Amino acid sequence: MNANAGDRVRAERADRRYEGVVLPSSTPEHLVLKLDGGYNVGVDREAATIELLEADVYEIDDEGGSEESEVEFDDDLPTVALISTGGTIASTVDYRTGAVTARFDAEDVLRAVPDLAGLANYRGRVVANILSENMTPEVWRDLAQAVYEEIEAGADGVVVMHGTDTMQFSASALAFMLETPVPVVFTGSQRSADRPSSDNVMNAVCAVEAAKDDVAEVLVCMHASESDDRCALHRGTRVRKNHTSRRDAFETVGANPLGEVDYASREITVRREHVERGERELSLSPSLEPDVELLKYTPGMGSEALAVAEDAAGLVIEGTGLGHVHTDWIPRIADLVESGTPVVMTSQCLEGRVCDRVYDTGRDLLEAGVVEAGDTLPGTAKVKLMWALANADDPAGAMRESLAGELTDRSVPWG
Ligand code: GLU
Repeated sequence: MNANAGDRVRAERADRRYEGVVLPSSTPEHLVLKLDGGYNVGVDREAATIELLEADVYEIDDEGGSEESEVEFDDDLPTVALISTGGTIASTVDYRTGAVTARFDAEDVLRAVPDLAGLANYRGRVVANILSENMTPEVWRDLAQAVYEEIEAGADGVVVMHGTDTMQFSASALAFMLETPVPVVFTGSQRSADRPSSDNVMNAVCAVEAAKDDVAEVLVCMHASESDDRCALHRGTRVRKNHTSRRDAFETVGANPLGEVDYASREITVRREHVERGERELSLSPSLEPDVELLKYTPGMGSEALAVAEDAAGLVIEGTGLGHVHTDWIPRIADLVESGTPVVMTSQCLEGRVCDRVYDTGRDLLEAGVVEAGDTLPGTAKVKLMWALANADDPAGAMRESLAGELTDRSVPWG
């Protein structure tokens, strides 16, 4: 049976039976159902018997655009676009179908997080409904386009709700794709709304406050400590999820966060240099070269591991220490560079920058044509190379420059 998004169906498989509304699914083999209890389940289409109970229970908006809401517009408040991509935080939002292209409006936003009432006028939009481990460059592009359209339509700030696992990659992707005159703030939640320790409300409230403020960059706003007292504002290209479950899992690497939002007073403190609201014109360069590999070198890994990059457009290596790999790798790296594949070196040390001028291995790597990415985080470097290969005249040169705050300018490796 051909069930479409928005249809109510019953799916039976072996001794299991599910009833729910079909959500758009990223894999044709699976039917994703939103059950009445709010949970989503995936059902193998081949293995299940599917019965249509009611067609078009929900109307799916194929345009995915924002909709006028019945919540009254308050002229005195700024407008914040709330864009959902999925993850734990979005699972708290009852946006009718949870569908990829469905709208969710101010009522939905306020029903999900009533504490947001009175902080802004909201425009809601759903770009995806996925766990962030399923994020792809295509969704980054759709997201960047949606953010661009919302800002162009007059949003004073944008909040992106995202799963936490790969938030740092998506934030980096948007930081390279977008020049923004307003804040674009990613937020998520480490604990779901049904748990007393959930972080979703405070993170959402602080993200909206940051979206109304003056840091016109792509930011990540998440708990700054294990208490419900403040959220940190991290630059999207310098942040890393450093804990699997703690609410303060996100940290700016190698520096303090840009700033923080005090939850009680809603006061925002910004301590570091940043792009101000209105300083940049809105522009979007969404092209990406998807075929870039990130390879972590570990002892015992033979140079045949580099085969992964043979047909790739670019390679980022997470090397040891100052940026090293086994010396046996160097001739093969030289061949890759010779054949036109940029090879970029980052470090698997959590702090510091690569410097291949200190040891012979490093000098030989430089000789082989490796591009040093300074203190750019390996994941950020991968996203940046994807962007640079599609947009920069000199992608290798772009990797040596800071484009979105990803590369800091301390010059000594131990400084
Ligand atoms: N692993 C999922 C994700 O990153 C769920 C956890 C979360 O939302 O943080 O989307």
